[in-house]
Amino acid sequence: MHKVAIIENIHKDGINLLKNNPDFEFEIIEDSSEENLIKVLPNFDACTLRVSKLNQKILSNCKNLKVISRHGVGYDNVDLDYIKKNNITLLITATANAVAVAEHVIYMMLSISKSINQYDQEVRIGNFKKNASTITTLELFNKEILIIGFGRIGQSLIKRCKGLEMRVKVFDPFVNKETIERFGGKKIENLDEELKICDYVSLHVPLNKKTKNLINYSKLKNMKREAIVINTSRGGIINENDLDKALRDNLIFGAGLDVFEKEPIDKTNPLISNSKVLLSPHSATFTNECKSRMSLETTKNIIDFFENKIDKSMIVKL
Ligand code: NAD
Repeated sequence: MHKVAIIENIHKDGINLLKNNPDFEFEIIEDSSEENLIKVLPNFDACTLRVSKLNQKILSNCKNLKVISRHGVGYDNVDLDYIKKNNITLLITATANAVAVAEHVIYMMLSISKSINQYDQEVRIGNFKKNASTITTLELFNKEILIIGFGRIGQSLIKRCKGLEMRVKVFDPFVNKETIERFGGKKIENLDEELKICDYVSLHVPLNKKTKNLINYSKLKNMKREAIVINTSRGGIINENDLDKALRDNLIFGAGLDVFEKEPIDKTNPLISNSKVLLSPHSATFTNECKSRMSLETTKNIIDFFENKIDKSMIVKL
């Protein structure tokens, strides 16, 4: 019998998969504080993981733990050195969430371009047409989008951008020209030059030493005045203070952020009072459909792992 800790509850579809399998028993751990995980996690040989941190202090107590199944694809909340040394396998929901994130990018690009929040406010306060013609709105048609990072989400996004008849360029040193062209994109090598001419930028890279502050003030100041920047990848890939300043200095048209350097975002963060940025609470994958897919993939990965039939694309190479 394999014992699975569900750290922070997940959609019922994934839970039912475990319920219906006689080889597994599970417990939902709502209190994911370090203190509680140190106490309870040693009882389990597998766990699912949402946003809680699994650091060395917690993991060093978990002598039975063989597998961590992330409900998502990012894993910056796990001590990778420790799990590598101790032979703990890390799994991700590799196929479940790309569409939801790509749709979120399209929603942000359209909302910002159409100044939809401003129009909505105007109608509500009785200014039905008073200021309507003075509000700037933009089209996506024939515009150039630069997709930075061409993995699962970048590849899902390009299909949607093509549907909107946008021109797509891709910056990803690890993906070859042929692959990008097969999707209808153009591979670029010089990021700084491309940032100067694109209309939209969307980030889809992991957060690491190379990508931290990838978009900063010196890059933003060279962009088009009508450019729009979207970050649904990880906080910190765009420098938040630089973005706030660039927006207030009218250097770019707008920005959409689903992810932040510190989550939840502080009330004192200047972006909170900046009307040129559209914010969402790291919720790009919160569609009903995606929640179901992610929970199913999270628990199926654990079952497949113990039944020795795990799909290799779900395993993080450490
Ligand atoms: P992926 O691993 O499939 O793709 C990442 C791509 O980035 C790869 O093709 C890689 O070659 C490329 N890359 C790496 N370093 C790069 C660099 N320095 N410059 C350019 N390209 C680089 O990942 P994915 O599933 O597409 O996810 C992308 C990002 O989105 C991750 O940061 C992930 O954590 C985040 N994410 C956020 C949400 C959300 O809820 N907002 C949901 C899922 C994923």
